[in-house]
Amino acid sequence: MPGSLFALLRSRIPSQGKTLIETLEGSRITYGDMLARTGRLANALVGLGVKPGDRVAVQVEKSPENLMLFLAVMRAGAVYLPLNTAYTTHEVEYFVNDAEPRLLVCDPAKRDGLEPIADLRGAALHTLDADSRGSLADLAAAAPEAFEDVGRAGHDLACILYTSGTTGRSKGAMLTNANLGSNADTLVGYWRFSEAAVLLHALPIYHTHGLFTAAMTVMLSGGSMLWLQKFDADQVIAALPRVTTLMGVPTHYVRLVQHPGLTREATAHMRLFTSGSAPLLAETHETFKAKTGHAILERYGMTETGMNTSNPYDGERIAGTVGFPLPDIEVRVATPGTGEVLPAGEVGVLEVKGPNVFAGYWRMPEKTREEFRPDGFFITGDVGMIDARGYVHIVGRAKDLIISGGFNVYPKEVESEIDLLPGVVESAVIGCPHPDFGEGVTAVVVKAPGAALSERDVITALEGRLAKFKLPKRVLFVDELPRNTMGKLQKNVLRDQNKALYG
Ligand code: AMP
Repeated sequence: MPGSLFALLRSRIPSQGKTLIETLEGSRITYGDMLARTGRLANALVGLGVKPGDRVAVQVEKSPENLMLFLAVMRAGAVYLPLNTAYTTHEVEYFVNDAEPRLLVCDPAKRDGLEPIADLRGAALHTLDADSRGSLADLAAAAPEAFEDVGRAGHDLACILYTSGTTGRSKGAMLTNANLGSNADTLVGYWRFSEAAVLLHALPIYHTHGLFTAAMTVMLSGGSMLWLQKFDADQVIAALPRVTTLMGVPTHYVRLVQHPGLTREATAHMRLFTSGSAPLLAETHETFKAKTGHAILERYGMTETGMNTSNPYDGERIAGTVGFPLPDIEVRVATPGTGEVLPAGEVGVLEVKGPNVFAGYWRMPEKTREEFRPDGFFITGDVGMIDARGYVHIVGRAKDLIISGGFNVYPKEVESEIDLLPGVVESAVIGCPHPDFGEGVTAVVVKAPGAALSERDVITALEGRLAKFKLPKRVLFVDELPRNTMGKLQKNVLRDQNKALYG
């Protein structure tokens, strides 16, 4: 495999005229256009003083040109650092101070706020908007197309992706050319991507899911993408006839199953639907299957590792599991502290090892050491279990584990019981500070419209099904659970809102 990610991609280009991206508005970028546009952008980057290994921080709206910028950074041998568009100026300041980029690219609307921050750190600042306008686009337009790609070794850094960091400081996961290339290439094979693939791309590209799992996999297969600015159920349903695959987060599938346009006929030609970034409810999986005949393929990954496991392409895709370890990737379950490896069926922390696993956290050697075992396994922080057939199940995050009166309570176990009750749409179980128990098990429940369900009803229904120490001390009802753009449930928000619940 070539050392640099771009060299790998270049080796897979099917033909210059093949479509790489089409937008709903009708614009089209071929693989040949991609080479021309990324060549101009790479020349512009070098002109701005970007050298191999320099960081290029990017906070812009999703657009094809944003993807071109990522590829241009790869061609220049620099390190791409995408930032969530929702981050405030204050938040971006932290990343700029931490990563010390040579160049910061932002939306023109954010220029004034970010200029002093870039100045202070000696970073150049340029702009790019969703319509490919801005000072960086101007520089690129004036630059030549021809660019000699900077060679990089597999172990050289390609990207820094900051973890969403719901507790403590956000950490920069350092991903190498080999991490990204090997993982996307594995997915091409495992999920049978080819030049015939047309992926409906409706994910943000500042996150590993949209940038690597989706876009990189398509590009390494020589396939095409139909590009949506963001997920919109009407647009997705209308676009289905033009595509063959869709990658989504669970909330996307929840919206699709509620859409009258989701039918067997509308999806008959589709080859694959995948879901990840958060747990897909078994109920969503089943409803989707009943309406379309397609079993959504659920997989599991994270910023630090890319994809680790996947339900099989041909075999049985089991709802509520994330499938088997991908080729070349080892997954095991261990006790949280001592790291003793546990047998099938036992719950512990998931640990992974393979060419996909990142090189460590940017400028955090201590933190990096803490998260790796001496034999090279990365401690994911996800709690899970591998069943007798080898399917991996995720039970939750280690930090969401509740310790009440000295007993461990896995929120997922309690949530699963609550979700079975008539009139419950979904639930989240959290630990809130409790004067007697340390943490009090607390259930936050979304009721079905019109359901007459009280706090007492829920607790009574769970008695006899769960040990007493697992029973919620309080049940709170809400209209919806807080989720971020990747569909991840934000338990930290619920914990914050209820920190004084027990006085
Ligand atoms: P991120 O680094 O933002 O991609 O988040 C990674 C985390 O998302 C993982 O550590 C898991 O906790 C969670 N996650 C990803 N995929 C799944 C899945 N299929 N089921 C449950 N949790 C998932």
